[in-house]
Amino acid sequence: MPAPTPLIAGNWKMNGLVASLDEARGVAAGLSGVTARVALCPPATLVERMSRALAGTAVLVGGQDCDARESGAYTGDVAAEMLFDAGATMVILGHSERRAGHGETDAVVADKVRAALRAGLEPIVCVGETLDERRAGQALAIVTEQVRGSLPPELAGHAFSVAYEPVWAIGTGLTPTIAEIEEVHQAIRTALMGAFGGEGGGVPILYGGSVKPTNAAEILHAAEVGGALVGGASLKAADFLGIIRAA
Ligand code: PEP
Repeated sequence: MPAPTPLIAGNWKMNGLVASLDEARGVAAGLSGVTARVALCPPATLVERMSRALAGTAVLVGGQDCDARESGAYTGDVAAEMLFDAGATMVILGHSERRAGHGETDAVVADKVRAALRAGLEPIVCVGETLDERRAGQALAIVTEQVRGSLPPELAGHAFSVAYEPVWAIGTGLTPTIAEIEEVHQAIRTALMGAFGGEGGGVPILYGGSVKPTNAAEILHAAEVGGALVGGASLKAADFLGIIRAA
């Protein structure tokens, strides 16, 4: 099976005001010759404005989370259809900051994936072990279980990706060794093929956690790494382009 087109997605988390859209425009302006797919996921407040700012460019826009329900009396929540309506074509789901800070279980993430599919959004589903779990030798088991529990069968036939984000590597400057990344990505590939058969062989598996221009090439060329989910280094166009160009 040919390798899927790499996806480099930026997660702005709770960062970004209207003035920050200049960075997004800077990313779009620097993409000549780039074959990877590129996405930026700003806070919900900026999805519509970023979509307008990037209309006609190669940069895709995504949300960082969505509610599993379609609409109703859920103060403060944002439905998948609302993100789509605002111009998003993707959505990050199951980020560890949502799993840990908002009590999202695999079942909750799977429901959000279903909602994203109903709305026409391409999900990027995050999995990853904590430092305690890695030290206990449970990384592969945890990640495999998260893949099985967070990816519903309805994903078959749809475009989606999985992001391996070791919790202890996010925003810390720490990264696993290349061998550790490859070992987990291979386990994710096995789980994907178990769940989706041959189709699971073509799903991009992104790595996320302290990716920077200086380590991107090594990580992005590791076996079974099909792109990157980038937090802090996606906030500045120059840094993000340095990662994109390494793909
Ligand atoms: C993330 O939170 O998705 C992430 C990868 O963050 P950082 O790149 O800042 O470690």
